[in-house]
Amino acid sequence: MSTSSDPTVQPVPAAVVQQVDAADVTLSNPKRAVIALGSNLGNRLETLQGAVDALEDTPGLRVKAVSPVYETQPWGVEPQSQPTYFNAVVLVKTTLPPSSLLERSHAIEEAFQRVRDERFGPRTLDVDILAYQDVRSDDPRLTLPHPRAHERAFVLVPWHDVEPGAEVPGHGAVAELLAAVGRSGVVPRTDLELRLPE
Ligand code: AMP
Repeated sequence: MSTSSDPTVQPVPAAVVQQVDAADVTLSNPKRAVIALGSNLGNRLETLQGAVDALEDTPGLRVKAVSPVYETQPWGVEPQSQPTYFNAVVLVKTTLPPSSLLERSHAIEEAFQRVRDERFGPRTLDVDILAYQDVRSDDPRLTLPHPRAHERAFVLVPWHDVEPGAEVPGHGAVAELLAAVGRSGVVPRTDLELRLPE
């Protein structure tokens, strides 16, 4: 049955649609969050783009900036034993509380069929919350800022790209942390690009 002939389905007046869209774009009292994306299985660029798009499709969330793509060596495993990672960092504004943002991050990981079986194992998609405003939390389910963000070049390099003046709460300026850690092993893939959703 076509919806147009269904008397119970009424078209939404254009004015209402516009109001709803405007409300969503403006987001009342949004909070800033920084999200790290990583992929080292399958079509890594497509996966990262899918994650950016899925974040943007989240009600109450807008993607504000997307970093360049970097290629990095996996951590904690024998060199060459796993494919390299593609990493990027995304800046978002959201009305979701941190716990809901984590839930959404897990749902996006699962949508890309990440299998959580092995620590440091290869992963189709890893979505980590690096920071949420200047919230600090030592809850193991959601530690904020992310406990390793301040010491990992593959996080600090793209974070610095999207927010050069950012602070990692409790650890200092991203620029200074990056200067201490260095950019070694974080290779810019200038031939690749993630699209900022419109
Ligand atoms: P990982 O395997 O590195 O993705 O870690 C996943 C686990 O870390 C999940 O069970 C999360 O609840 C937990 N976790 C703690 N803090 C964070 C954070 N800031 N971002 C994402 N996951 C976190």
